[in-house]
This record gives sequence, structure tokens and C-alpha cells, in this order.
Amino acid sequence: MLKFIGVGDLLNQEMLNTCAYIKEGNKMLIIDCGILSFKRMMELNLFEDVNEVYIAITHMHPDHVGALASLIFYLNTKNIVSKNIIVPSEDEEQKQNIVNFLSLQGVENDIYNIVKDEDAIIFNDMPKFSYKKIKHTELLKSFAIEMSFADKKVYYLGDNIDEKYQKSIAKKLGENDLVYTDCCGGNTELHISLLQLANIYDEKVRKQVCCMHFKDDENIDEAKRLGFSVAIKEQSKEEYLKKIMSH
Ligand SMILES: [Zn+2]
Ligand SMILES: [Zn+2]
Repeated sequence: MLKFIGVGDLLNQEMLNTCAYIKEGNKMLIIDCGILSFKRMMELNLFEDVNEVYIAITHMHPDHVGALASLIFYLNTKNIVSKNIIVPSEDEEQKQNIVNFLSLQGVENDIYNIVKDEDAIIFNDMPKFSYKKIKHTELLKSFAIEMSFADKKVYYLGDNIDEKYQKSIAKKLGENDLVYTDCCGGNTELHISLLQLANIYDEKVRKQVCCMHFKDDENIDEAKRLGFSVAIKEQSKEEYLKKIMSH
């Protein structure tokens, strides 16, 4: 469902910062925009044929928002007129934080639009997009994203340590529904651990739960061993061919 520019945590130079997107026709939704993923976004030439971009930010840690200003400037050079940042309708402060964050870096608010989640109709088959406040760190607000599609619901948890919210998802998870969640390979005070996730999601549904935000390969192996799906960093066509040829 989602494609990934990066799948790593804050300092993971190889896997890059976790950053996902959906592209449909000439519209694109980007979820989070960390510093280590921005260069990759340009390398993959992701904005070819795109004229409407929506950006969702889960929270203000640098691996999730660090390159937002650069991305807006970059989209400007690509002549993408419709640049939209989706903000939680129930949290004026979060909206202001994003606007200030951009303004401090010289991005005037007349080159992008602020769209409230309740008004965000991004794709024809995605009638609803909403943020839900979740637990991550005392200092910052963090939001999960819930996206309703015609046949499924998709939950995206940028960073969290929110067992209660995860349990509420597990309880109502439909057979087509998908969950994307960070999983801890490091700081257990800020991130939910794979063990916690394994306690919440029954073995039968773990394939519907895609882990991301990895610390290292060990972290990925452990997620797989427990039966979870894992997010995979996208390759360009050239990289893919190169890899095949070298085998
Ligand atoms: Zn974080
Ligand atoms: Zn993070």
C-alpha cells in the first residue's frame, strides 16, 4: 500500500529516516520528511508527473520534519503549484508550530497551503484522513494518521509508545486493514517494543502490521521472526537492474 523512501530511525544513515508516500495519478501524499530521506526523494525523481502534493507530519522530531522547508523549496523549483500541508483540525498549536518552523527557515506561508485533516480529500478512493493524538514523548505532540479507503482502513504511527491506542486498533482490525508502526530497536522510553507489539497483535494478524523506523538489521530480523511485515526501502529501476545484473 504505502511505499517507503526510508525505513530507519533518527540516525540510521543506511536505511534513512522513515518516510512513506502514496502516488495516484498526478497526486501524491508524503508522510513525514526527515533530513536523511530528502536527498533520496530527489534521487528517486518522485515528483515527475505530479502536480498536487500533500504532506502529513506526525510530529516535530528532526527525522520526521527536518527537511520540510527544503522539500517545499524543492517542489517550488519543480513548478508544483499545489503544495499542501495537512494539519490536525483539533490542534491549532500544532498548525502554528509547523507554520513557525517553516517561517523561521524563510518559507513564506503564501507558497504552500495549510489544509485541515477533516477537509483533506486527497485521493478519490480515500474519503477520510484524520490525525489522532498518541503518546510518544512528553515534550512533543505526536499524531497517528488514520486513512479510510474504499475497502480498508490504514493506520500510520510515526513514533509512539502508546499501547492503549495500539490495543484499540487491534480490537477493531478488519481483514483488509493495515497498521504501520515504529518498533523499538533502541530507546524503549520513546518507542513501542516488538515484544509489546507481539503482545497486542495476535499471530494471525501480524502480517497486517508493518514495522518500520528500524535501528539496525537485527531489529528487522526480530520483527520478521515474530511474524510481522517489514517496510522496505524503495529502489529506483536502475538500482534494481544493477542488483539483478550483479547476481
Ligand atoms: Zn519521534
Ligand atoms: Zn522517529
